[in-house]
Amino acid sequence: MDALVALCKRRGFIFPSSEIYGGINGFFDYGPLGVELKKNIRDCWWRDLVHRRDDIVGLESSIIMHANVWRASGHVDGFTDPLVDCKVSKQRYRADQLFFAPVVVDGATVGYVSALESEDTAGVLQAAAETLKRKRAIQGALAPVAPRDLTEARPEEIALIPSPATGEPGSLTPPRAFNMMFETHVGAMRDDSAVAYLRPETAQGMFVDFKAVVDTGRVKLPFGIAQIGKSFRNEITPRNFIFRSREFEQMEMEYFIHEDADWAKCHREWIDWCTGWLHSIGLPASHLSEYNHPAAKLAFYSRGTTDIMFRYPFGVQELWGIAARGDYDLKQHEKHSGVPQVIFDEASKKKFTPHVIEPAVGVDRLVLAVLCAGYAEEDVTDDKGNVEKRTVLRLSPRIAPVKVAIFPLLKNKPELVARARELYRKLQRRYAVFYDESGAIGRRYRRQDEIGTPWCVTIDFETVETDGRFTLRERDSMQQTRIDETQLFALLDAQID
Ligand code: ATP
Repeated sequence: MDALVALCKRRGFIFPSSEIYGGINGFFDYGPLGVELKKNIRDCWWRDLVHRRDDIVGLESSIIMHANVWRASGHVDGFTDPLVDCKVSKQRYRADQLFFAPVVVDGATVGYVSALESEDTAGVLQAAAETLKRKRAIQGALAPVAPRDLTEARPEEIALIPSPATGEPGSLTPPRAFNMMFETHVGAMRDDSAVAYLRPETAQGMFVDFKAVVDTGRVKLPFGIAQIGKSFRNEITPRNFIFRSREFEQMEMEYFIHEDADWAKCHREWIDWCTGWLHSIGLPASHLSEYNHPAAKLAFYSRGTTDIMFRYPFGVQELWGIAARGDYDLKQHEKHSGVPQVIFDEASKKKFTPHVIEPAVGVDRLVLAVLCAGYAEEDVTDDKGNVEKRTVLRLSPRIAPVKVAIFPLLKNKPELVARARELYRKLQRRYAVFYDESGAIGRRYRRQDEIGTPWCVTIDFETVETDGRFTLRERDSMQQTRIDETQLFALLDAQID
């Protein structure tokens, strides 16, 4: 992760927000290359989902909506994470990410240890338990630790669990519900009637505008409404770079189905569609898995939720949630607004509330996933037999920020430069391309490898003196072939859509 974060900053993918003022935790800026990568991911999703299917339409709803939207959706009362304070250090933790275990020696509890969730929480707690036993010179057999998170701690245990900040017990508060919505005020009044929220998800826009979209007459069940946009959550502990931030972007779709439709089949189809789409932007099956939420932990209205998980360097984590939400959301809005949220079924001549399948993915989590899956450092041997390190980002051509880099072999040969610039201008009309004439060719290749450019083209003397063909160098194999302009355009057309 450290190498990747450094690369992102050095090459202009992602910067911490407001860095000259010391930064602001949980916010990030996308630099010149990052903004291209993110846009390509969004564009691929939109093209594949909205343009290339007949049953999905797009929407862009406002970020700030009527406060009653969030009362109806349950966010005002229930969009909370369990918060724990350390009264001494003033640190705040998410109780479900703070783990503890009693230290049990010869069957008796002799103290408690705690640790923040990590890839090896149990290992860290076990080591802490051994240290505690040694420091206090306690004799006897130490039992293996049984980690629990702080939401599972009994009230009398809270006082005995050490704070991760101080290592001492007595300063942690019992967990309490912390609402993650950012509040603001609309208009000149600052009283309670003017309170509004930055949306914590884009999905409610699709429910609130459901009737308006149906009334356009363009859609017939089953159909989906898709939206891409910013969401905001005042996360207690933003972490793992852009994985969990406070301002992020979501791509969500509500797929409305008949109340009697086979929701489980539809749910499965959407899980498969999402998995196939992830492959299409270059995420390998080896990094992906599915997690089915246990029935006992589902919200009462939910019929089933499956998360597509990605193996990040910091652990296997949720990338894309696909939830079968029944008719809960539309019914809630009907109840709170008084406006019926129903559709007329021609076949049965009946009105009913459709059910919904919701695939929801974070764009920033996708950006991080493609960067993590694509990043590699490898030893390569040059023509002279020297071994050197190359850093390469194996990004799919569909989403790579730069598709082709164009080099004249030498920058002081006007005929090479002119031909290279001509090709560059031609390609630029259709693709994001980059022109570079500085430094040795090998160095120029390395610079492109590091930012994930799939192909480099070098214009040399043969190009201008003979048949016009040039060298095409492929990023992953580093193979070089000679092709002409028609072949180059055909290649790009086939690989980038
Ligand atoms: P988590 O359990 O990781 O907090 P969630 O289950 O609350 O996520 P959803 O409400 O289902 O997430 O949101 C849909 C998607 O939005 C997630 O799968 C994730 O990709 C993305 N997402 C959610 N919260 C964040 C965040 N704080 N930063 C970046 N992306 C996020």
